[in-house]
Amino acid sequence: MSNIRIHIIRSADVTKVSSKRVVDYLATFPGLMQFFGSDFNIQLGRNEPMVHAEYSSIPSTKYSMFFQPVNEKKWATNEEHTFPDFFEVCNIYRAQENIPDEDHVFLLTSIRNNLNWFSAADKVAGRKNYFIQMNQWEYFTMSDNLYPVAYQLATMVVKSYMFFDFSEYERARHIRPIGCMLDFCQRKKDISIKMRTADICSDCQQLMLERHVPNLLTAQTLRIMEGIRSAILFKERFEITRQAPGIWISENLRDVGVNDIGFFSFGLNPLEITLYRFFLNHPEGVQLSFLQDHRDEIYRLYNQNDITGSLENINSRINELIDPNSNSASEKISRIKRKITELLGAEMANELIIQGPTGEPKKILLDRSKVVQR
Ligand SMILES: [Zn+2]
Repeated sequence: MSNIRIHIIRSADVTKVSSKRVVDYLATFPGLMQFFGSDFNIQLGRNEPMVHAEYSSIPSTKYSMFFQPVNEKKWATNEEHTFPDFFEVCNIYRAQENIPDEDHVFLLTSIRNNLNWFSAADKVAGRKNYFIQMNQWEYFTMSDNLYPVAYQLATMVVKSYMFFDFSEYERARHIRPIGCMLDFCQRKKDISIKMRTADICSDCQQLMLERHVPNLLTAQTLRIMEGIRSAILFKERFEITRQAPGIWISENLRDVGVNDIGFFSFGLNPLEITLYRFFLNHPEGVQLSFLQDHRDEIYRLYNQNDITGSLENINSRINELIDPNSNSASEKISRIKRKITELLGAEMANELIIQGPTGEPKKILLDRSKVVQR
């Protein structure tokens, strides 16, 4: 079985950062599916937010195999984009980049569609085009839009192996939710339920066997579903547990990020990683004016990164960092804090940032048993 290539593009209303986050997240679950992000983006109509409603419409069957209806029919208008508009974007991308027919192309968009569905697949046989809505997930699932988008994406690929056409899918899907990947989720909060169960029911498992869905694809999809499940539960439980997530340090020591909600890098540069790892090594805390006493350690940590520049250059960067009369360390600590907080939110970031009152030792509060190497 060869790899399944999945190209993820965006319409111009979706930021590069949020699209990249989806790609990076899925890439942390290696397997048969390979995910490729692209800078390709296209302007698509005006950006109009979807409208909240508790129940979705009874879906029309003429559009697509796999969809998550979002809203009551009364919200649908003729002014908005229809599904083929979105798939057309996928086709433009295919033509421009010579994407093979067997590859899957997903368009991430926050542009509303006329039926207000979360996602859909191209109904034209053999065309593996899809779109997924990036907006409004938080409202339905109490979670970052990353997780439902990733869930949709992974399960849409596996469904494309399970069904030949829409009527098959229509017969197989579960109108009454049972916590299976094939729950129809007409009621929007049911999407949250299937993400939290991360399960495939025995009927659907049987169908996957009959249709020879590649084992490796199934296994990878289940890993993604399981990862999403634990991330969502971790985030929701944080509200009552206040348990900070753990952090990881990459094997080559050049990257640091967060665990438990997915494996996200903090995106720190070499000097920031140096400082962060230094404070990880010092749970007791260190006053910034005493950094110079730890020059050897800081120099060693810095050199474990992929450093460019002459020895002279490296020395001057380190000297500036530890200089008590310079703001260098303090500025970097602020930048680290900003990066971690942007990723986790202030409350969840609290134990992970370097902090302490001016003139007193700075420290990372996190229980060091939550630091792992990966
Ligand atoms: Zn099922």
